[in-house]
Amino acid sequence: MNYQSLNAYCTEKAVTLLAVSKTRSIEQILELYNKGQRDFGENRVQEWVDKVDNLPSDIRWHLIGHLQTNKLKYIIPKMHLIHSVDSLKLLQKIEELSLKAKVETGILLQYKIAKEDTKYGIDPTADSELIEFSKTLKAVKINGLMAMGSFISNEEVLAQEFEVLINKFNELKNGAFNDNESFKIKSLGMSGDYKLAIEKGSNLVRIGSLLFK
Ligand SMILES: *Cc1c(COP(=O)(O)O)cnc(C)c1O
Repeated sequence: MNYQSLNAYCTEKAVTLLAVSKTRSIEQILELYNKGQRDFGENRVQEWVDKVDNLPSDIRWHLIGHLQTNKLKYIIPKMHLIHSVDSLKLLQKIEELSLKAKVETGILLQYKIAKEDTKYGIDPTADSELIEFSKTLKAVKINGLMAMGSFISNEEVLAQEFEVLINKFNELKNGAFNDNESFKIKSLGMSGDYKLAIEKGSNLVRIGSLLFK
């Protein structure tokens, strides 16, 4: 699919298009940059470190892959948004390092919605301790939620999974985070399922294979 038509589709629906550039070359990234794309997503810290200095400084970088606490020192404060915060321990460490560096770090909480047990993410039915801690944060801004659906094409099952995230978002928006004005991002949907995700309420889609060929 070409960039312009996907970008127009997302713009019309007021959805942020995140170009997932993992495994792609500097040249491939620049090609999209030159068409106007500014939000790019990487899933591995080391790969991003190897690329970032060779790319324009006005790119907004998003980390979308599983993150270990020992890698945090490389990404604070250069990452625009960390999508993959999936544990209390990680959240505590991001707060600690952001306070120390005197910076604000924007994050999304990653929930597990897929039935497949290979996926990372917070259990939506067992998040109360993490949410309580979230309300005490000073240097970390919780900007919304992220999730990945199962790698299946059954739209009925996928729709049910997406609803778990949308319901969790609404529950937090009306509850624990009701005074947090920056809590607005629902990062949901990839190349295979972005249309369904947008239909279900996503406002940020993470697209890789469809954009880069
Ligand atoms: C790779 C990746 C994507 C993009 O997947 P495509 O199917 O190539 O669009 C989205 N989100 C995450 C977390 C990823 O790791």
